[in-house]
Amino acid sequence: MTGLILVVDDVPANVKLLEVKLSGEYYDVITAKDGYECIEQVKNRKPDLVLLDVMMPGMDGFETCRKLKADPEIAHIPVVMVTALSEPSDRVQGLEAGADDFITKPINDMALFARVRSLVRIKVLIDELRLRDRSVSQLGVLPDGFGVNTDVTGAKLMVIDDDALQSKRMFERLSAANYQVSVFRESAPAADAARISPPDAFIINYELAEMDGLRLAMQFKAMENLRHVPIIMLVEEESQHQMLKGLDLGVNDYLFTPIDFNELFARVKTQVRRKRYQEALKSNYQESLSLAVTDKLTKLYNRHYLDTHLKNLISQALASRRPMSLMILDMDHFKAVNDTYGHDVGDEVLRALAEVMVSTIRSADLAARYGGEEFVVLMPETDASRAYEAAERLRKKVESTPFAISHADGQIFKTLSIGHATIQPTDVPETLLKRADAALYEAKNTGRNKVLPVIEPSYSLPPSRLAMQEE
Ligand code: GH3
Ligand code: MG
Ligand code: MG
Repeated sequence: MTGLILVVDDVPANVKLLEVKLSGEYYDVITAKDGYECIEQVKNRKPDLVLLDVMMPGMDGFETCRKLKADPEIAHIPVVMVTALSEPSDRVQGLEAGADDFITKPINDMALFARVRSLVRIKVLIDELRLRDRSVSQLGVLPDGFGVNTDVTGAKLMVIDDDALQSKRMFERLSAANYQVSVFRESAPAADAARISPPDAFIINYELAEMDGLRLAMQFKAMENLRHVPIIMLVEEESQHQMLKGLDLGVNDYLFTPIDFNELFARVKTQVRRKRYQEALKSNYQESLSLAVTDKLTKLYNRHYLDTHLKNLISQALASRRPMSLMILDMDHFKAVNDTYGHDVGDEVLRALAEVMVSTIRSADLAARYGGEEFVVLMPETDASRAYEAAERLRKKVESTPFAISHADGQIFKTLSIGHATIQPTDVPETLLKRADAALYEAKNTGRNKVLPVIEPSYSLPPSRLAMQEE
C-alpha cells in the first residue's frame, strides 16, 4: 500500500532528506516550507499523513497542528510531529496539540517507516469508514456511526514483561490513563488468558528471560482469534536491528527501554484505534446498518448499496489518483445444487459462500450480493495485480472449503469463476462492472473455476510491500 505524505519543514535539506527516504519506500511525497503552506496543502491534497516539524518561524508546529485538528474536514488526517531528541517536553506539547504520534530528530529510518506504515494504514481504514458513512446517508439510512477520534479508554492491554519494576510502572501509569491492564511475567499463562479473553493490544518485552519475546509475538499472530490484536514490543536500543525482522513479521510497533511513557501512550492509542476501526469495518458496522442496505439471505450489502458506494469509491479513487479494483464472482453450476438438493440447501450454500467471502477479503474491502448467485467485492487502494491475487485467494479458498448442507450427503464442494477489473480515468460504475463481467463471462466459457484476466505479480516492489497485511 502506498500513501501520499506531506513533509513540512522550514529547512530545505530536512525536507529533501525525508523526501528521499519516503520515496525510496514507494510513498508519494509533497512538501511545505511553513505552517501556512502546510494547511493549504492539507486542505487541497488531503494527504494520508503529515510529518510536521516543530521548530518553524512564524507559526510553529504546535500551532499548525492545533489548526489542522480544529477543522473537521481534515481533523482525521494523522499528524506526526518531528521533535528534537533533546526536548522531551515537545512530545507532551505535541500530543496535547492533537498530534497522533511523534518521531525524534535525528530521524531513524526504522522508526520513521514503522510509524508511517501504521498511521497510513489507519488512514485508509478511516477513509473507508467515512465513505461508507456517506453512502449510507445518501441512502437515507443513518448508521450508528464511528467518530474519527474513537475513544480508546477502557481498552484492555496485556503486558508481558518479566522486568518487575518496569511492568509495575506500566501497570500503574496505564491504569491511571484508564486502560484495563493485566500483567504477566511468563508467556504460558499470558497465552492462556489471551486465548480466553483477547486484549485490545499486547505490550511484550523483547528480552524475556524465559523465551524470545518475538517468538511469543509470532505465536499470537498465528492464532486465529489473536491475529488482529496489535503487538507493541519493548526493546533495548542495541537490539533495534532485531526489530526490523519483527516489523516485517507483523509486530505493529516498538518502543525503546527505558520507557518514555508519553511515547508509550501515543503508541498504544494509535494501535488500539486502528484495531477498533478494523473491527468496526469488519462486523459491527455492517450489523448496525439498517436492512435497507443489507441482503436478507447473505447479510452482505445489497445491490442498491453497492451501486451508491461504488459511485463514491470511483470518484474518490479518481480524485486521489489511486487505484481501485473490483471483482464479480459467480458460483459454478449452482443451479445443480438447487436441482439436486432443493432450494433451501441452495440458500445454505449461498449463506456459507458469503461467510467465506467476508473472512477471506481484507477489512477495507466490501462484499455485496449482486444478484442470484453473483457477488461483487469492491477493493479500494488495489491495483490489477493485487486484485488478481485477492480473487485467486478467494477462488482457492472456496475450492478447498466443504460446504455443510442439511442433507444425507453432509457436505459438497463448489467452485467460483471470477472476473476482475481496475479503474481507468474515464470509468463510471457501469463501465467498470461491465469489464469485470466480460472477464467473468470469459472465465465461464473457458472452463470455469478460474480468475480472469490473469495478471502476474509485478516484482518491481519488494515482497513485503506487495501485500497490505491484515493484522
Ligand atoms: P454457471 O456455472 O454458468 O454459473 O451455472 P449456474 O447453474 O451457476 O448458473 P445459472 O445462472 O444457470 O443458474 C443460477 C441459479 O441460481 C438459478 C437460480 O434459480 C438460482 N438462484 C438464484 N437466486 C437464488 C437464491 O436466492 N436461492 C437459491 N437457492 N437459488 C437461487
Ligand atoms: Mg453460477
Ligand atoms: Mg449466474
